[in-house]
Amino acid sequence: MGSIQANPASESFEAQAHLYKHIFSHINGAVLKCAVQLRIPDIIHSHGQPLTIPQLASKLEVHPTKTASIERLVRLLVHNGFLAETKVNEEEQEGRRKHILSLHLLSYLWFKEEEKTIVESAFGLGFWDLLERDHQYMKSFNEGMASDSQMMNMALRDCKSIFDKLETLVDVGGGTGTTCRIISERYPNLKCIVFDLPQVVESSSGSHNLTYVGGSMFESIPFADAVLLKWILHNWDDESSVKILNKCKEAISKKDEGGKVIIIDAVLKEKEDDNDMAQVKLLFDILMMSTLNGKERTEKEWNKLLVSAGFKHHKITPLFGFRSIIEAYP
Ligand code: SAH
Repeated sequence: MGSIQANPASESFEAQAHLYKHIFSHINGAVLKCAVQLRIPDIIHSHGQPLTIPQLASKLEVHPTKTASIERLVRLLVHNGFLAETKVNEEEQEGRRKHILSLHLLSYLWFKEEEKTIVESAFGLGFWDLLERDHQYMKSFNEGMASDSQMMNMALRDCKSIFDKLETLVDVGGGTGTTCRIISERYPNLKCIVFDLPQVVESSSGSHNLTYVGGSMFESIPFADAVLLKWILHNWDDESSVKILNKCKEAISKKDEGGKVIIIDAVLKEKEDDNDMAQVKLLFDILMMSTLNGKERTEKEWNKLLVSAGFKHHKITPLFGFRSIIEAYP
């Protein structure tokens, strides 16, 4: 598989990341407004010296379940140059210090409440339930996902080694099937199943090596050599992600028979990524946190998650744009 530089598609993926950065740039404004309404700059200023995240969270009087969310809010503010980060002791505990001035989507009140997401606060139900209720919204969400998946065409031509030895593949949360259709056309001997919620797959029709199955990944996943999870785990917190990964483990073949879970998601690498890449990933992190109680993960967090779900070994390959392929073996 080629590196990003060697991949002729890399320019398109860079353009995609650039586009996402601008589409979600309103999150920067929302995060800033939120920080001011929570009085983060004032609190840091009056403290007169660096504060650790737990110290800051306790002064902010946020709901106890929201301390980690404050850390992620601050991470983006640091990236955007509104706050500075200093190491405060040998354990490398991180303190975040002032600078500042002064977001809509994300209200500061959310940090004070127990509701997991702003969607729950606003509508009293979770994001997927909201989509099920609002068919027009579900249609445009699915089209958005399909258009992102369309770019897989360019990336997957370099991924032969990932799919080569498989006889069956199930794309869990595969949406309307764009990625799986591309894979099924590229590997005509591979039997592919798109698995998603019944309302998402009900009107889709397959081909000789592509079928659609409706259900919930928290209950049972159709058997296959390997599972593909593209842009799924960043929608879920660690507890739900471990549940999903456990269900995947039950569905796949043994390792020596090619069994693996193929995850396509971002890996946060703030120190290594260029500014644009880091910005896109951090914007997605806030989007996932506020709408789905999900998160973007660092390499260390991916490792922890996969170990907790009982995977023995995994390999991360930066693939294209702001996402990587993580192959996890049972
Ligand atoms: N993998 C696709 C879609 C990602 S969006 C792509 O990259 O284009 C996340 C998907 O997870 C949506 O299609 C959503 O319908 C699906 N999903 C949400 N909850 C689910 C559940 N409990 N079981 C199966 N799929 C679910």
